[in-house]
Amino acid sequence: MNNFPKVEYVTYTTDEIPKLGKVKFRTFTVGEHKQFLEAVAMGQAEPVLDTLCDIIGKCTFGKINVSKTEMYLLDRLYLDIYIKSKGANSPVTYRCSNHVTGEDGNEKVCGNTMNVNIPLTSAYLDIPEDYAETAIVKISETAGIKLRQPCLDDFKRIKDDGGKVEITEKFLYSSIECIYDGERLMYPGQDFDLPGLMAYIETLPDTVMPQIEAFFDSTPQLKIELPITCTKCGHKETIKLAGLDDFFA
Ligand SMILES: [Zn+2]
Repeated sequence: MNNFPKVEYVTYTTDEIPKLGKVKFRTFTVGEHKQFLEAVAMGQAEPVLDTLCDIIGKCTFGKINVSKTEMYLLDRLYLDIYIKSKGANSPVTYRCSNHVTGEDGNEKVCGNTMNVNIPLTSAYLDIPEDYAETAIVKISETAGIKLRQPCLDDFKRIKDDGGKVEITEKFLYSSIECIYDGERLMYPGQDFDLPGLMAYIETLPDTVMPQIEAFFDSTPQLKIELPITCTKCGHKETIKLAGLDDFFA
């Protein structure tokens, strides 16, 4: 057994995060960062989410129930840890899509590529006014579907397939807390399964899906707005980034 010096971690505190409050954290260790890069290199979502979950848990000293926390809050937390660990900039390549007049007089796309640093500290949590953690979509006077914002565990189930997180069948399934009919409560995985649910959804009035979509559309997102001026054609635009996938693309 080696007798290396005991590691003392510097701790930081986040600003107030909705539901989580001010969270104490430390930066990634060398091993954790390596573990994360290896997961990313595998090119699959599940190991990345697993690693993310593991690292956030360790960096916040086990004080947060990571797998039961909503994704947008974990994005916020991960970004704070990342900034202290790796710096406040994320380099990305920007390609200008402005239409300009070419030498031959024809319109063409500028196509200039530039290296841009995304200032990660400018990220803010955009919480829509109509955001709700849960919603009830009524099926009849006495019956309805109770929805809740999916947490990391739910996302992992969906991403198993390598599927994109849209309102896919699985996404909907994992966001249902229960279906009720008067006093009777039915829970996913217990009282009905995915194929059963989908067959049932088919029979519902056409007005139900838009209500479900509206619920998910109001999910908070971590956003960055970055004004850019093209170095070739002078075109100005503000690129809008939403979520970690965009920040580290
Ligand atoms: Zn341009």
